[in-house]
Amino acid sequence: MKKPAKTSQQPTPRAAAKPVAKPAAKPSRKAPAKSAPKPVAKPARAKSSAKPAAKPPASTLKTQRALRDRERATRRPSRTPGVQVLSAPQLTAIPWLVHGFSTRTGGVSTEYGSHQLNLGFTEEDTRPNVERNRQKFIAKVLAASPVAKLKAAPPAKPWPLVLLNQVHSGAIHRVWGANPPEDARLTLRDARRGSAPQTAGDGLITNARGVLLGVKVADCYPIILADRRKKAVGIFHAGWRGTVQRIVEKGVGEMRRHFRCRPQDLVAVIGPGIGACCYEIGEEVESRFESQFAYAPTLFEDVFDSWSLKTKYPMLFLNQRAPGHGEPALSRHLDLVKANRQQLLDAGLPAENIHALGLCTSCRTDIFFSYRKERVTGRMLAVVGIR
Ligand SMILES: [Zn+2]
Repeated sequence: MKKPAKTSQQPTPRAAAKPVAKPAAKPSRKAPAKSAPKPVAKPARAKSSAKPAAKPPASTLKTQRALRDRERATRRPSRTPGVQVLSAPQLTAIPWLVHGFSTRTGGVSTEYGSHQLNLGFTEEDTRPNVERNRQKFIAKVLAASPVAKLKAAPPAKPWPLVLLNQVHSGAIHRVWGANPPEDARLTLRDARRGSAPQTAGDGLITNARGVLLGVKVADCYPIILADRRKKAVGIFHAGWRGTVQRIVEKGVGEMRRHFRCRPQDLVAVIGPGIGACCYEIGEEVESRFESQFAYAPTLFEDVFDSWSLKTKYPMLFLNQRAPGHGEPALSRHLDLVKANRQQLLDAGLPAENIHALGLCTSCRTDIFFSYRKERVTGRMLAVVGIR
């Protein structure tokens, strides 16, 4: 039970004000003697001259803080990174929606590097670490949403997080709010109590407020759907297996069935995942896609020189090629973003409603966990909810 996290990252303005300003001064509550330190902070802010910040005698503690905050906001991250949450502007624009994609930095795990935000119960990491990381991530997601900013008060209680036992399937479940039917498997009430049953599947949808739906990923793609009019959301876990089972296309169908969503009202965001640049596949994956999609050939790219990658990572879990098979001259890469985009188009979403962050987890192991690249690695979360 230690809580070093917040202090290491960035002291609250109040906390910082004291020690920095006047080591000599008595611990006066309001720190009236602040006249001295002010000028120091200012010189750097050339541009701030436009504001009344520069010299006004009213160098109150408040303006001092404002300056410091502004400076901090524009400063590059320091050595100890905080929790960083990626968001999509197309979703941030929806005022009632809460969402975020985690990165690997700013947590308390140490198994995959220092200050790692591992959000999955992996073999290497401890449960308390993961739980602490999840708390930090959820708090950050809730605090970052625009409405929270407006009201300047994030929810007092963290929202419950619903996760599935992911099995690379096409199975989708609804989290029921008020008046769940008898056979409802996942309800908001159970989620709040922490008594939601372990459920296998790879997609979650809801129109209930105050709950976060999440998927765990490390190379597979998290995909968020939101219906601005019906106020309903969904989140899906799409690796190659989920994609070949049309998880996201079914997801749109389930949202239509449960919430009467119209495809043209849906906004889709494909989060970070392994890009076509890095995602070499074997014959089985290729033939599975070809058997399912007439457009399969458009999803593959032939790339030279895969030998180094293969010898480095001989047991790639995402492809099923048995070891010892002959190497083709070219290696075949799969574009999962393109595949899922196509499914969303087929489901009726307009192209302009489909967005992708365009970040490859395998290329960017400085900010993401990549199972394929690292083998022993953590897990990230993507979450979505309704305020
Ligand atoms: Zn890549």
